[in-house]
Amino acid sequence: MAKILKSCYCGFCSGVTLAIKKARKASAGGNIYTLGPIIHNPQVVENLRRNNIIDQSGSPAKISSGSCVLIRSHGIPLHIEKELENKNCRIVDATCPKVKKAQEIFSRLAERYGRVFIVGKKTHPEVKGIISRAPRKGIVLPGPKEAKKIPSGKKTGIIAQTTYRREVFFATVFEIIKKFDVVEMHNTICQETICRQEELKKLAKKVDVLFIVGGKNSSNTKRLFELGRELADAYHIEIPSEVLPSQLKGRENIGIATGASTPMEIVEEIEKKIQKLTKSK
Ligand code: SF4
Repeated sequence: MAKILKSCYCGFCSGVTLAIKKARKASAGGNIYTLGPIIHNPQVVENLRRNNIIDQSGSPAKISSGSCVLIRSHGIPLHIEKELENKNCRIVDATCPKVKKAQEIFSRLAERYGRVFIVGKKTHPEVKGIISRAPRKGIVLPGPKEAKKIPSGKKTGIIAQTTYRREVFFATVFEIIKKFDVVEMHNTICQETICRQEELKKLAKKVDVLFIVGGKNSSNTKRLFELGRELADAYHIEIPSEVLPSQLKGRENIGIATGASTPMEIVEEIEKKIQKLTKSK
């Protein structure tokens, strides 16, 4: 049987754990709605739905007046929060404290410099929520390539999406530093994201193949997978049925790492599937 090595940082991060705890508590009193899935795992989202925690797929228009709404760990744009308040919704704020901190730093920098760079993905809910704190003052940069095109200036601020890759953030900061006299940089990448990325680098050296487990729509899992495949033979999977015998052929050491919103139950099931497949080799 092959040897399975798991990252020390498998399963939910503290922000996701907190959001689920708040959602479960609030749902004891009836239905609670989220604007998008609370975590990126279809099985768990379905289980939560059966327990009154219902995803309304990002649209506040679908929420009826007076409903209870949970703000996910990513946070939400201010104008949507206002819209929900105007509908007299009861809001349960489960924004991760680290995301809140990034929102506050962004607002402060926007006031100080009038323009702030956010290294991240423009369409990510967290980035949309951050930018909404000072509309037209935030510029999203996916990486150093885009930073090279920015015209030079005097002073600016720069932060990161909390789940972005550290190397990409620093490479982007390096390009911005070349163009401005003063750059106030805040590394807002959360420590848990950094630990997962660093642990993956160590794990990749010890294994023949890596399984990165998490939602295909989960940004932090995608970042981990990007890193994983630079270092080893890697597969991004969501569920045990995606583990195939061909991926395990001739492999002795198999690594498993997860995104921040992957439940441990799925990891255990994947472990069992790998054991079963490698036992029968
Ligand atoms: S990955 Fe970090 S910032 Fe994002 S929810 Fe988890 S703890 Fe919070």
